[in-house]
Amino acid sequence: MSIQENLEHLSNACGVTGREDEVRSLMIKLLKPHADQIIVDKLENVIALKKGKKNAPKIMLAAHMDEIGLMVKNITKEGLLQFAKMGGIDDRILLAQKVLVYTINGPLHGIIGSKPPHIQKEEERKKIITYDELFIDIGAESKEDAAKKGVKVGDPVGFDAKYAKISGDTVIGKAFDDRVGCAIMIETLKLLEKTDCTIYAVGTVQEEVGLRGAGTAAFNIEPDIGIALDVTVAGDVPGVREIDTTVKMGKGPALSVTDAGLITHPKVLRLLIDAAEENKIPFQLETGLMGATDAARIALSRQGVPSGSVSIATRYIHSPQGMLSLKDALDSAKLTAAAIQRIQKKF
Ligand SMILES: [Zn+2]
Repeated sequence: MSIQENLEHLSNACGVTGREDEVRSLMIKLLKPHADQIIVDKLENVIALKKGKKNAPKIMLAAHMDEIGLMVKNITKEGLLQFAKMGGIDDRILLAQKVLVYTINGPLHGIIGSKPPHIQKEEERKKIITYDELFIDIGAESKEDAAKKGVKVGDPVGFDAKYAKISGDTVIGKAFDDRVGCAIMIETLKLLEKTDCTIYAVGTVQEEVGLRGAGTAAFNIEPDIGIALDVTVAGDVPGVREIDTTVKMGKGPALSVTDAGLITHPKVLRLLIDAAEENKIPFQLETGLMGATDAARIALSRQGVPSGSVSIATRYIHSPQGMLSLKDALDSAKLTAAAIQRIQKKF
């Protein structure tokens, strides 16, 4: 399947952080044709192993399978669901969103509601409504009715948004953070049909709540190099200054020099830049962003692992809808594959 088809399926699947099951099954299916072995570890990271030459360098690729979302925290007597946030979510984007509540009996449709603005006092209307004043309305009549529908405290809640191609290479959808990384990782393996290195392509769990899966996977794999495939902020909308970021959607993969969790190992940065330049793949350098990727955790595994990241400039990340360029995604796979082909020996 093409990178676009893979991204569509991955984006539409649900994998609220810590409940990545649906994405994991899909990843196993999509990675299998390009790997010698598929391993699911104890935290349920998916590891696709592609064996290289004997004593070849071990490369760990990481793309997280989880997405930001919500979790049912309390069911009111009226049958409304109060919720906790899973991962970094801005309260301002929650109101009136369509969501799916994943119950034991299957998903239920719901809308995030609040007290109607018509009956709010003037001061109230000026305030941001925080998540603990909001609720999910699944059309239940009472707490008992909600329970009958299968809702339980702890059920994951995902945003209800469908993938679409809107023009040229531009697509919209949910959970591009980090399903686009997952799609790029599959594509990279596809491009690396022949390679001397041994590749561990890891779909990680629980990235959005602290890069957790990447930590245990890296400990287990003991890679010589780590590369995270993820998204980054696109700075091409009004209000973003050049000093904030110069990275733009459609202008090539972003190579992070530093972020809040990692100073990219200079040899890894050089490797990525050389691979891009030699293959005439456009790229953008970025520094100083808040936030981190799985590379931050891989880099500090055991005695340390030279690590870096290749990211896709994505608009509206950590909201129910994102926008990105498929060309950037394909170029990221090409760049990552070309970089791995340049690795002859351990760093
Ligand atoms: Zn991410």
